[in-house]
Amino acid sequence: MVDAVVWDIGYLVSAALFIMGIKKLSSPRTAPDGNRLGAYGMFLAVLVTLAKMYSEGFIGLELIVGGLAIGTVVGVWLAIRVEMTGMPELVAMFNGFGGAASALVGLSEVLGRLQTGNVPPPGVELYAIWVAIGLSGLVGWLTLTGSMMAMGKLMGGFYIPLTKKDDRGRRKWVSFPTWGPPWLNIVKVGLLIASVVLIVLTIQEPNNTDYIYGLVGASCLLGILFVLPIGGADMPVVVSLLNSLSGIAAAFTGFVIGNNVLIIAGSMVGAAGLILTFIMCKAMNRTLPAVLFKSFGGGGRETVTRTKVGSDPEEVAMVCDGIATCVIIPGYGMAVSQAQHTVKEFADLLEAQGVDVKYGIHPVAGRMPGHMNVLLAEANVPYEQLIEMDDINSELPECDVALVIGANDTINPVARSGEGPLGGMPIIDADKARVVVIIKRSLNVGYAGVDNDLFFEDKTMMLFGDGKKMMNELNSAIKDL
Ligand code: NDP
Repeated sequence: MVDAVVWDIGYLVSAALFIMGIKKLSSPRTAPDGNRLGAYGMFLAVLVTLAKMYSEGFIGLELIVGGLAIGTVVGVWLAIRVEMTGMPELVAMFNGFGGAASALVGLSEVLGRLQTGNVPPPGVELYAIWVAIGLSGLVGWLTLTGSMMAMGKLMGGFYIPLTKKDDRGRRKWVSFPTWGPPWLNIVKVGLLIASVVLIVLTIQEPNNTDYIYGLVGASCLLGILFVLPIGGADMPVVVSLLNSLSGIAAAFTGFVIGNNVLIIAGSMVGAAGLILTFIMCKAMNRTLPAVLFKSFGGGGRETVTRTKVGSDPEEVAMVCDGIATCVIIPGYGMAVSQAQHTVKEFADLLEAQGVDVKYGIHPVAGRMPGHMNVLLAEANVPYEQLIEMDDINSELPECDVALVIGANDTINPVARSGEGPLGGMPIIDADKARVVVIIKRSLNVGYAGVDNDLFFEDKTMMLFGDGKKMMNELNSAIKDL
């Protein structure tokens, strides 16, 4: 048997890699290295854990190799297959799997202990272990079902497998409503209290598995009900909160099985996710209780009945001729159309004419935190040109042209009214620029499902079409001038 100190050294090294990795994530320039360090740390932690379990005779080689093979194939397949626009759903799913893994380990620990009669007598040890098991179950199962709901909401719904395909080759589709009558909050609080009571009951009667399965059911239902009323501008908050919860569940499970690296990594994910949650709340001008216990209702897609005559790329090129400043405001549509390289080319063309070009980045633009920064970095846009919302807003009243590509909710002036799903959310003040050019395919609403009056203003020029295609046409028109 290998000395326990060897495993602890392995865990210490992986914990150090996590800490260095997270430090490097604080700047876009060093973030790829940070990501790599974190991945190495996790790889080492997995190897050490498997070697430890094998050396202690806990599991056989076939389980180790089988588990690694299945995990690797599924992970590689998902990573290759996922589009950049599908990343948020994948992240939501990973959060859910993280919560489920923690909850399953906690469950297997408690069932294993009951089977072998390894239940400590009433006292501090029993309370500590059973409370940790209960909390890892509560948070883990809640994270699983909440994340699945969030994933469904981000995708707009789920296909039902094996149902008959329609003439466009699509299977039946279920989408989740953004639904939350006031009494639902009473149900949620009731379920939370019931879960805590069930944890207390498992301590009083450790051998009664009914309480354990009751806790699994209550936690799963709680996850669904927590995410059901959330929609529109509140989704980024709930996704980061679920990310944090998956870490907290892992930390509790680390206590349950006495695994230090799980405690460290779980606490780091929990803390980082919580910080991100509060950053998102601040960006959306919300408080966490308001997001979790208030529903904005609706959230469905509204149909625009007004019309607006579109402009053509040549007209926009002429407007851009001779300007001094331009702010590019990217949104989710830029990610969909993968227009980042053509956007950079547009910026280069203007800069060659002496125009001061900057990018206005809204904290929740796109579908995941940092979505726009990642895409623009891929196109080699200098980080110094990416300006945060508050700073760019102070410059927009003096800006000649605001070029909006695929953004909608994040520039929607209705947010200032405080009403509806976007109410109170700070926006990028594109409407304050002298001329606004908006590239999107139609007058359709954005993620929050709210109509945008900016499209219809006189100073707004709509370039209707796919983001990349329109940017290419605009760049050609500028070159032809
Ligand atoms: P929006 O979702 O508000 O709007 C995106 C617009 O892009 C749509 O109106 C669509 O219009 C247009 N679009 C789609 N495809 C294309 C294409 N191929 N070419 C050109 N345009 C296209 O985006 P924003 O970035 O402004 O706002 C983000 C929203 O997502 C916010 O409501 C935020 O709360 C939410 N959200 C953000 C998360 C995050 O962490 N960042 C997570 C979850 C939700 P059309 O169909 O007419 O082309």
